[in-house]
Order: sequence, then C-alpha cells, then structure tokens
Amino acid sequence: MASTACNSCGQCCSNLELDEKGIPLRPGVIPCKRLKFTPNGKTYCSIYNRRLGSSLGKGLVCVMRKDCPFDYEGCPQNDPLGRKKVFRVDFKAKEVTEIKVETKKDETDK
Ligand code: SF4
Ligand code: SF4
Repeated sequence: MASTACNSCGQCCSNLELDEKGIPLRPGVIPCKRLKFTPNGKTYCSIYNRRLGSSLGKGLVCVMRKDCPFDYEGCPQNDPLGRKKVFRVDFKAKEVTEIKVETKKDETDK
C-alpha cells in the first residue's frame, strides 16, 4: 500500500510548469493558491483535510500525491525506486532545484 505520510512541507502543492501541450516540465515557484503557510514553517490545504498533491495550474484540480509527476526532497511518499525526478521547491526563495537522491535501486546497482 502506498505511503500517506506527510510532513506538511508543501512542496508538492506548487503550480507546475507545463509545456505548450500541458505536459508537466517541473514544479513551479508559485504555490497553489489554496496552500496556506503557518508561522512554524509548515503548510496546510485550505480546502482538503488531507493534502492531495500537485495543482496542475490554471483552473485544473490537483491530483493525488501518488499521481504527481515528480517527487520532492524529504517527502516520505517519494518512490523508493527513484523512478521520478526529485525536486527541492523553495517558495520563499522562489527556487526549484532538481536534486540527486540515493535510492534502493542505486544500492542494488553497485
Ligand atoms: S511533498 Fe510530501 S511531505 Fe511535502 S507536503 Fe507533499 S506529500 Fe507532504
Ligand atoms: S488544492 Fe491541492 S495542490 Fe492546492 S494546496 Fe490543496 S492539496 Fe495542495
């Protein structure tokens, strides 16, 4: 069963950058308008009790976290086999960086 653990970092709730065909290229620096930030650095969704996942931008509803096209630094729901690109999303600094993460697959490749 897929993990539903979440540390409320908010990284998966960005408006994704899409290409001209609407295919996600990478997470964006602009958070979903429904993502709220707390003074302790955590986040919550203003409409869903349990965060679902990435917004796909203008007028489109967000998808379940497991269906997000990307993974995120430190997220417990990342694919353990590393099949998705992993990003660090810093909304404050307006920076999105692809990061390299050691995976179980990397271990078996050695
Ligand atoms: S990236 Fe992961 S830990 Fe962060 S809010 Fe999304 S599901 Fe939760
Ligand atoms: S609507 Fe979806 S993308 Fe936006 S904050 Fe809520 S769970 Fe995140």
